[in-house]
Amino acid sequence: MTRKVLVIGEVRDGALRKVSLEALAAGKTIAEGGEVVGVLCGESVSQLADEMIAYGADRVITVEDGQLKNYTTDGFTQAIMAVTNQENPDGIVMGYTARGKDLSPRLATKLGSGLISDAIDVAIEDGNVVFTRPIYSGKAFEKKIIIDGLLFATIRPNNISALEKDESRSGNVQSLNAEIKDLRTVIKEIVRKTSEGVDLSEAQVIVAGGRGVKSAEGFKVLEELAELFGGAVGASRGACDADYCDYSLQIGQTGKVVTPDLYIACGISGAIQHLAGMSNSKVTVAINKDPEAPIFGVADYGIVGDLFEVVPLLIKELKKELINV
Ligand code: FAD
Repeated sequence: MTRKVLVIGEVRDGALRKVSLEALAAGKTIAEGGEVVGVLCGESVSQLADEMIAYGADRVITVEDGQLKNYTTDGFTQAIMAVTNQENPDGIVMGYTARGKDLSPRLATKLGSGLISDAIDVAIEDGNVVFTRPIYSGKAFEKKIIIDGLLFATIRPNNISALEKDESRSGNVQSLNAEIKDLRTVIKEIVRKTSEGVDLSEAQVIVAGGRGVKSAEGFKVLEELAELFGGAVGASRGACDADYCDYSLQIGQTGKVVTPDLYIACGISGAIQHLAGMSNSKVTVAINKDPEAPIFGVADYGIVGDLFEVVPLLIKELKKELINV
């Protein structure tokens, strides 16, 4: 059965987020040979339409309006509802990001549909579109199908591979005029708490620090290691509570959920609430002084030692490797 699937692109700092490219791949699977329609909302986003097409969209609809310069639930809901009213899709996919988590339930309510959130895989099995999602803090996985109505899902970053970029692809780009009105919130200024850099939820390498890092100064060595990998720094709640770093870096049950290729946990004990945010990392390395620390139970590689001795050694060796590349 072929379907028309809308893929909502997420734009940050003028660029399309990687998870949106992954959502296009998911949309392609769901469409089963049907049409994948990219959607871009913002103040000036149409220059990103070609990128959506190169990554799998058959055509793109843009909704541009000064009131969409910064994300608001009201504004983006109105813009996307205008697109769904025009297109009447069979499916919608977007990233399970802060924005996706905020927007998708509201849209689902407006559309009277169900919603499968935080999917890590989508496949066609026995004629059904089957979504896989983690449950019980990643300890188990469930497979879900939607038996009636719109196939609406959000996907977890870093789990579904984007399609190969094909710049020879072409497609129509339509600008839709949606009436954006009565916004209850106006964002006047966005003040970033953390420095610019690789987004934690999309990073392929994360160097995370816990209370064992002992100070904000102690995080500097983790930043250096992360930078060499082109990765990001994360933290346990212990480190955030101790004011060693900002809460935006917190990984875990009440923080961010991450799925990098490599997770290096430094001075983190491995409490269940922390594991909830990182246990699906592809390779986990734990550095901890305590050989009994629970983090070693989920680690692929464990180093029992003082992080302030081990991390500088890793940096030294990595620098040597990078010179040889
Ligand atoms: P600790 O448990 O104090 O561990 C520090 C570790 O560092 C120890 O294992 C120690 O051996 C090691 N260490 C010390 N010095 C060194 C050194 N020099 N070199 C190497 N190792 C060293 N936690 C989260 O992380 N994320 C969450 O989202 C989260 N949500 C929560 C939600 C709820 C409702 C509750 C109740 C708790 C939550 N927690 C969360 C807190 C969680 O239970 C732990 O308290 C927290 O993860 C501990 O952080 P930590 O591992 O950094 O600190």
